[in-house]
Amino acid sequence: MRYEGALYRPPSEAYSLIIQATIGCSHNKCTFCSMYKGKQFRIRNTEEIIEDLALGRNHYKNVTRIFLADGDALTIKTEELVKILKFIKETFPECERVGVYGSPKSILNKTSEELSLLKSLGLGIIYLGIESGSDKILKAINKGVNSKEIIEAGRKVVDSDIELSVTLISGIGGKENSLEHGIESARVINEIKPNYVGLLTLLVEEGTPLYEDVESGRFQLLTPKEVLFETKNLVERLQVENCIFRSNHASNYISLRGTLMKDKDLILSQIEEGLKLSRLEDKDLFRRL
Ligand code: SF4
Repeated sequence: MRYEGALYRPPSEAYSLIIQATIGCSHNKCTFCSMYKGKQFRIRNTEEIIEDLALGRNHYKNVTRIFLADGDALTIKTEELVKILKFIKETFPECERVGVYGSPKSILNKTSEELSLLKSLGLGIIYLGIESGSDKILKAINKGVNSKEIIEAGRKVVDSDIELSVTLISGIGGKENSLEHGIESARVINEIKPNYVGLLTLLVEEGTPLYEDVESGRFQLLTPKEVLFETKNLVERLQVENCIFRSNHASNYISLRGTLMKDKDLILSQIEEGLKLSRLEDKDLFRRL
């Protein structure tokens, strides 16, 4: 396959055929993120994307999922996405789901009719990085959107019947805004009612503006126990039915998984158990990164 630079995909797309439809991230300005820093954002020609899909067809027999990378494939014009999805339907009749990362802005730039059309052609899931529901934190991390826009974008996906998977980042508000992060993130999730909520835990990478803030003392990282308190604070406030909650990324200190609301008490008791673990005093020992 022809790939440009490092590839990122959601954990649930681990077994998907990954095709780069865009290169990099259309925003590329979040203070904590280094994923696409070396890439100038661009949308690939539809012909090239289709060539890559054809190459994939030659290599792989049973392709049930396809993920269109990189950062924001939903920003591609609908007419071009239609060509890509139609080619996938014809070439991979066994494909059950096509997934993309979608930024709030690229979702808001699509009409509800466009999203429904993409759904009818096989777009089955959109991954939306919310990071935090707090406007204060969204501004501080330079996310480029506020919570109102995130809610509007999320609702638009849910209403179009495309599955929506959102991610939050534990610790993204630092010590100062940890309480606000939990409260406001729960508010946003409760309004959107996504199908999946995933929690990552903040990893500070060298070369990012956030790294400099940590080094200078302007941003204070949470301890593992504070991360769990923040998670507890968030989960206690979640009121969303049939939503799969996951905190089982390698960046997390403990692994949590359940379906809200039925498993909410179970998840909370797992957090309580986690809070008793003395091993969490060592912040790097139990992360798998
Ligand atoms: S966090 Fe997402 S939107 Fe922000 S720069 Fe990174 S890839 Fe782009």
